[in-house]
Amino acid sequence: MKRYSAFAIAREALRGHTGWERAWRNAQPKKRYDVVIVGAGGHGLATAYYLGKNFGITNVAVIEKGWLGGGNTGRNTTIIRSNYLQDPSAAIYEKARDLYETMSQDLNYNVMFSPRGVMMLAQTEHEVRGYQRTAHANALQGVKTEFITPERVKEIVPIMNIHGPRYPVLGALWQERAGTARHDAVAWGYARACSDMGMDIIQKCEVTGVTRVAGRVTGVDTTKGHIACDKLGIVVAGHSGQLAEMAGFKLPVEAAPLQALVSEPIKPCMDCVVMANTVHGYMSQSDKGEMVIGGGTDSYNAYTQRGSFHHVEETVRALVETFPMISRLKMLRQWGGIVDMTGDRSPILSKTPVENVFINCGWGTGGFKAIPGSGWGFAELMAKGHSPLTEEFSLTRFREGRFIDESVAAGVAH
Ligand SMILES: Cc1cc2nc3c(=O)[nH]c(=O)nc-3n(C[C@H](O)[C@H](O)[C@H](O)COP(=O)(O)OP(=O)(O)OC[C@H]3O[C@@H](n4cnc5c(N)ncnc54)[C@H](O)[C@@H]3O)c2cc1C
Repeated sequence: MKRYSAFAIAREALRGHTGWERAWRNAQPKKRYDVVIVGAGGHGLATAYYLGKNFGITNVAVIEKGWLGGGNTGRNTTIIRSNYLQDPSAAIYEKARDLYETMSQDLNYNVMFSPRGVMMLAQTEHEVRGYQRTAHANALQGVKTEFITPERVKEIVPIMNIHGPRYPVLGALWQERAGTARHDAVAWGYARACSDMGMDIIQKCEVTGVTRVAGRVTGVDTTKGHIACDKLGIVVAGHSGQLAEMAGFKLPVEAAPLQALVSEPIKPCMDCVVMANTVHGYMSQSDKGEMVIGGGTDSYNAYTQRGSFHHVEETVRALVETFPMISRLKMLRQWGGIVDMTGDRSPILSKTPVENVFINCGWGTGGFKAIPGSGWGFAELMAKGHSPLTEEFSLTRFREGRFIDESVAAGVAH
């Protein structure tokens, strides 16, 4: 595939943009692949990419029932950070954050990684203690974060009311190299690179069954026919339980809609991401000027990718306390995505009871930030049978009681 560059843009400008190629091939399924990945979200595509790049495995198909990146990858609020509490989490999220730094160069695709800083407000004494503890844990893990004073918070985000009516700002956990990236571009960049390596990304192709012989999977039934494979990777976020059932095992995950909304675009007013756990809401400003606002999950299991009025009301009401100026904004769009949550709020990257089936799920409300790290580790697990990055995230931890409790770090969703 031709490389994107300033020179290519100039050349195409001179010849009326007639020389651009399609970013990826519109592939139709072959009869057999070495590896089939179900789900062309960020995690599935990143897994395929690192299978090719790090292990030379390129006879790979990524099968997607809709359009690539059309699941949670294209619906999230794009926060990238690695200030988690537990060591295994810090390792995989920091690996991911680190890969984001050079992703545009690596994929030759501008993913607009913007390390603008992520701030998690402490608005109760309990949160102050919790975030100070996380800052100490991060120092030991080699993740650069700091606990900052309310005055510093105000200096970084002048539009914030730090004396809030109910919950004054008492400090914040600040990660300067955290930030955001363009979510679609992450999916598109990986897809283009995978297609370039000869892999098939097969869209509008739903997996409807998994075929097994003597305890091994032999392939998948799809709406475009049967596809045989040697190894199967299931990377379908909110639909993980359904795919696992087809493959013959159960997962400790539940699916629920998580919601977000954006305002009309306004002039630049906030150049970092702010998360407020106590009042429950978080906000950043997109390059277009929209305020991107994240809400919570519905408290019931569902598969609707829609927003709901009570979430909009609750989230905006909460954020108005800390950001009074948003009370004047008009809201443009709201939506939901189906997230898959485990009891300890940590993901599952694991072998399964079925020999040649691997599962990558449970990223819940916060897996966008993890995409490159997850793909890196999961590809290693699928290629070699083990990976230091994924070891602690195995399915067996639920049987053995080795939980990786991130319910506080993941409290406000991301
Ligand atoms: C509103 C919202 C805000 C969020 N904000 C953030 C954030 O700020 N930061 C962060 O880190 N994370 C965030 N997340 C979480 C993040 O989006 C997800 O954890 C991540 O995108 C999961 O990626 P994935 O590739 O596993 O899943 P997906 O992108 O959902 O991809 C899975 C794919 O599998 C496909 N699929 C399902 N069933 C089948 C089948 N039978 N056959 C074929 N294909 C199938 C689906 O169509 C889908 O495209 C947010 C999520 C939501 C919904």
